[in-house]
Order: sequence, then structure tokens, then C-alpha cells
Amino acid sequence: MRSPFVCLLLAVILPGLSSTAFAQDRLAPLPTRTVAVTFDDLPASGGPGGLPCDRDRVLDLTDRLLAHLAAQEVPAIGFVNEGRDCEDVVTAVLTRWLDAGHDLGNHTATHIDINNVPIAAYLDNIAQGEIITRRLLGARGRALRYFRHPYLHAGDTAEKKEAVEAFLAERGVRIAPVTLDNSEWIFAHAYSIALTRGDMDAAARIRATYLDWFETVFTHFEAWSLDVLGYEPPQVLLLHANLLNADAFGGLAERMKSRGYRFVTLDEAMADPAYDQPDPYIGEWGISWLHRWARGQGLEVEWEPDAPDWVNAYRTE
Ligand SMILES: [Zn+2]
Repeated sequence: MRSPFVCLLLAVILPGLSSTAFAQDRLAPLPTRTVAVTFDDLPASGGPGGLPCDRDRVLDLTDRLLAHLAAQEVPAIGFVNEGRDCEDVVTAVLTRWLDAGHDLGNHTATHIDINNVPIAAYLDNIAQGEIITRRLLGARGRALRYFRHPYLHAGDTAEKKEAVEAFLAERGVRIAPVTLDNSEWIFAHAYSIALTRGDMDAAARIRATYLDWFETVFTHFEAWSLDVLGYEPPQVLLLHANLLNADAFGGLAERMKSRGYRFVTLDEAMADPAYDQPDPYIGEWGISWLHRWARGQGLEVEWEPDAPDWVNAYRTE
């Protein structure tokens, strides 16, 4: 039986709210957000056991990841390190990505770090990193159009940064920025260790925490976008082709849909004027393009949430 107090309370509140207002509140549309999903380190991110060249395991990982993308109707782009010592595995993985309708970009041949090598070596590694990808794209009448820097390190000196930008422009290749940068790789490392140990309780905990933690990353960058740009641009999410996403990407896609995200291609995302802005940051950090643009405006960067301590500790204990 409803208490007299509640009846009194409702009598006070209700006259101010029409039944229409209640209905609208319940049916309020989700915000219209868009995101391009990108996966680095094809054929597969490293980790224990030399995964990237283990043909059966890598093809299994690839098929499971592509199945999530198909089920969630996510058009993705994979960034490739061709220079693994296993051309047959690389070719098989890239063929499956293209057959599934996705795009491919270059991520250097051997995942080298621009901070640690002379510019000539870096440019050569870019050129060596696009041979198979260009051939497979070309056979389908398509061109290689995107490059992503390993570690998001885009040049620690103006000379290096400008040399890479000019080299890519000559080849008809555009730098693929990232706005939703994150510590997914820490979860993925912990997850692969849990699987190797057969610690399925930890694996399940890491997967669940991964999804909850990503909500905090989205919340951060949605608000930070408003501070930096005045609106939420089509976001570009960085993930990796790893065992964690082979198991958990479907759940992550559901979380994004619940936040109002619609999945778009990198081409569609980068048609937004935000991506016509130059990247003003010169330095050794690999940071979100939102942070780069913020620094260009003289804003103090608000950093995204780190992975929880226990996840970080699990991979090193
Ligand atoms: Zn990478």
C-alpha cells in the first residue's frame, strides 16, 4: 500500500509534469555520435608465443574479430606491419580483411619507432611496409590511402615530422589520426597472459573491466571534444588486432551503440573539417589528436583515464 507521504509527494510534484513530458523523457533519442574503428598491428599484435606468425592461431583470431565486425555491422580499417617474417600469414590475413569489405593501411614494415631511428631508415621502413598491401588493394582496383605511426609517435623533431608528411603526401597516403586513444594494449597484454596461464577467472575479470573502463574513456573524450572543438567530431578509435578484441569487441560495440554511436568508415570520419587541421605537436609522445589540437590552442591537456592498477599489475607479477 502506498504510504500517505508518497501520495503527498506525488501530489506536489505531478502537477508540474504532464504525461507527455514523462513519455518524451523515456523516449529521448540517443545523441548522434559517429566513430571510425581502426585496428593496428595486423596480422596480429604480439604477445607471448610469437602469435603474429602462428598461422592457425592468427587466422582463428582474425576470423573471430571479423565475425564481430560483421555481426555489429562495423566497417573497419586494419593497419599492417608487413615485415613479419611470415609473408604467407600476412597475405592470408589481409585477404580475409579485404574479402570482408574492410580497408587496409600501412603501419610500417616492422613497427619501428620514429623517436629511435634516423629519418632515412624510417622512410625506408614505410616504403617496405606497403608492398603486399598495395598489391592486394590494387588487385581489387583500390589504392593504399592511409598510414598510421607506430606508438602514435609522429616526429620528435620538425625535420622528421615534415619529412614523413611530405613522403606520404607524394605517395598519395594520408596520416590516420586517433582521437579515442586509450590503454587497451595493457588489457590485451594482461589478457593474453591470463589465457597462457589458463587463468580463466582473471580472463573473465579483465574482459568485464575492459568494457566498464572503456565507458570512462568515452565519457572523457566526449567532454574533452567539446572543450577542444566545441562539438563531438566523428571520433577515430584505436584498437589492436589481438586476442582480447577477438573475444570482447562485440561487447565493446554494444557499449558504443548504447552511447549513441553509429559506425562509419575512416573516410567518412575524416571528411569532418576537424581533420583538416594540422597536427601542431612536435615531440616524442604518442597522444590523441584532440590533445595535439588542444596544445596548439594553448589548452592544458586533460588526460584520459589509465588502465586500473590491478590490470597493469597482473601483466607484470
Ligand atoms: Zn602498432
